[in-house]
Amino acid sequence: MPTPDPNAAELAAIADEVFRTQYGSAPEGIWAAPGRVNLIGEHTDYNEGFVMPFALPFYAVAAAAKSDTWEFHSTYGGGQIVRADSIDGVEGWAAYLAGVAWAMNESGYEVGPARIALHSDVPHGAGLSSSAALECATLLALSGLYGHDIDRTEAARIARKAENEYVGAPTGILDQSASLLCTEGHAMFMDCRDLSREQVPFRLADEGLAMLVIDTDAPHRHADGEYAARRADCEQAARLLDVEFLRDAPVDATLEDDRLNRRLRHIVTENQRVLDTAAVLKSGSVAGIGELLTASHASMRDDYEISSVELDSAVDAALGAGALGARMTGGGFGGSAIALVEASAAPKIEAAVIEAAAAASLPTPRVFVARAAQGAHRVR
Ligand code: ADP
Ligand code: MG
Repeated sequence: MPTPDPNAAELAAIADEVFRTQYGSAPEGIWAAPGRVNLIGEHTDYNEGFVMPFALPFYAVAAAAKSDTWEFHSTYGGGQIVRADSIDGVEGWAAYLAGVAWAMNESGYEVGPARIALHSDVPHGAGLSSSAALECATLLALSGLYGHDIDRTEAARIARKAENEYVGAPTGILDQSASLLCTEGHAMFMDCRDLSREQVPFRLADEGLAMLVIDTDAPHRHADGEYAARRADCEQAARLLDVEFLRDAPVDATLEDDRLNRRLRHIVTENQRVLDTAAVLKSGSVAGIGELLTASHASMRDDYEISSVELDSAVDAALGAGALGARMTGGGFGGSAIALVEASAAPKIEAAVIEAAAAASLPTPRVFVARAAQGAHRVR
């Protein structure tokens, strides 16, 4: 077993304690799965393009044991328990866990009931994928308890099935793939056409750098409708260019319609920026990707129109205070931004971001220092 991430090990000690208190016995094992951010490559996934997530050092941890009924406990919201005789029809947060059991059964990996105690420090609803972390920790726990050795790509598909078909949230495969497949010290380049991947070195500390994750704490306004509208724009642009997906659009393609042309330009240039980011990282420089991150933000703000005042404020303030690069991350209209900074400048940049939000009467952002952490793993 690889050495667990130090933060996952700390969270596991809490999950272990909660399990013992809750169920009066010891768990059979403890498994951890991280949240993620996307370093670059936004809205490229459904255009069969490129993405590049890395795992955050924040984990959902599941302490679990086989049982004769389902019992789900989470320390979330002060501690909650959901009991169920069957995995059908479980609602609320426990649906993410029951959904994984359901999806495993549907996929031919039979699992029986279990007691689970969950403890997670992945900020939820911040676009950092707390939901995939829950699913992936649960999936590893149930696989471990019931003796299934599931290939990680297949496991990502099963966890996504749980979120899409049981919980009913229409998400892509990025979140679950990132949680299950990212590796420490790397960003994961993934081609969404065939899900092929490459682990690209992403060693911030080696260059005295840090990545700030800035949760704007702003509501996701109109996110669903606007997401559907962007997808429709891309489909229309692809039809006009006579390609199946914008991934295949020639780099110099243009469209007469101004809006469609800007959507096209974002996708084509963003795919190129992901390739360039991978190349710069492979050449041994992390600092060198700063401009690509900032260019990505401008493209999302101006061409794809998915940013928000909160995200722009965070990005502008970070850059103004000396960040090497910054961009919103995730689907947009809220959620989080990232900023690549000299580690020594992190406190100053954090303060500038918070000050800018206050000056514009925006919610106070929460700022975390991230590193590229280990993907999902068994802790003990
Ligand atoms: P994100 O994945 O970006 O954090 P989602 O809306 O996809 O946002 O998922 C958030 C939901 O996941 C929460 O509303 C809750 O139902 C569930 N969740 C997240 N963390 C926990 C936790 N620690 N315990 C129980 N449920 C959680
Ligand atoms: Mg989610």
